[in-house]
Amino acid sequence: MNIIHLVTTFLNTSFLRRLFWKVVTFFNIIMMRIDIITVLPEMIEGFVQESILARAQKKELAEIHLHNLRDYTLDKWRRVDDYPYGGFPGMVMQCEPIDRCISSLKEQRSYDEVIFTSPDGEQFTQHVANELSLKNNLIILCGHYKGIDHRIREHLITREISIGDYVLTGGELAAAVMADAIVRVVPGVIGDEQSALSDCFQDDMLSAPIYTRPADYKGWKVPDVLLSGNEAKIKQWEFSQAMERTKRLRPDLLEK
Ligand code: SAH
Repeated sequence: MNIIHLVTTFLNTSFLRRLFWKVVTFFNIIMMRIDIITVLPEMIEGFVQESILARAQKKELAEIHLHNLRDYTLDKWRRVDDYPYGGFPGMVMQCEPIDRCISSLKEQRSYDEVIFTSPDGEQFTQHVANELSLKNNLIILCGHYKGIDHRIREHLITREISIGDYVLTGGELAAAVMADAIVRVVPGVIGDEQSALSDCFQDDMLSAPIYTRPADYKGWKVPDVLLSGNEAKIKQWEFSQAMERTKRLRPDLLEK
């Protein structure tokens, strides 16, 4: 556990969290590195070079590295899977290439977490994204086929994360989803850091509706209060809208 993680664990109020965020952003304390291990790097390559992830890497606030698992197999056909014991259908990713890849990464630096994307893992939420955004080095291992040899999960994986109760063909989309959600909340990545902090789920609430110009489009009007210029009133409106939407659409968030 690093010092930044330790501090945030104790910052429960949103005011303190925001203050801490400002300090961390100002001093540019966090540089995060995510290593993604996959049999299909092409599937993630384009994604990590666009939008917020591209900006974060350009600003040198985050680095995302893709590793093709096939580069770590000793098999001359570059195979990384084999038949499962027990005669079950499907193919299973073998221990050796995964172990060799993770070991070679660990020789170069220490990792805070070695994450396996898995439908039976802990649910990925904004809280998990916030927590992981304060780590320095993460490995995300993408499963494929029927999954990975269970011994890897027992011996090398420190955390198993699911992006939802459905089964994907591989962990690549899950890794992309996680990398995006994690990196966008790394302090300093989004220009106006308030904008990430006012997103849905940050305070266990949905966000208020948002509008842009024109104020009247085909008679569809922007709420008057937003045009009033009265900051206190606007804040009050924003909060009551957020609360109303949360109560109506996601009452479970308020019970946390
Ligand atoms: N046999 C497995 C599913 C394998 S799907 C089972 O029943 O649990 C192949 C791979 O896709 C998994 O190993 C995992 O890495 C990834 N995956 C599938 N669904 C996922 C989800 N909801 N969240 C994260 N990763 C997922």
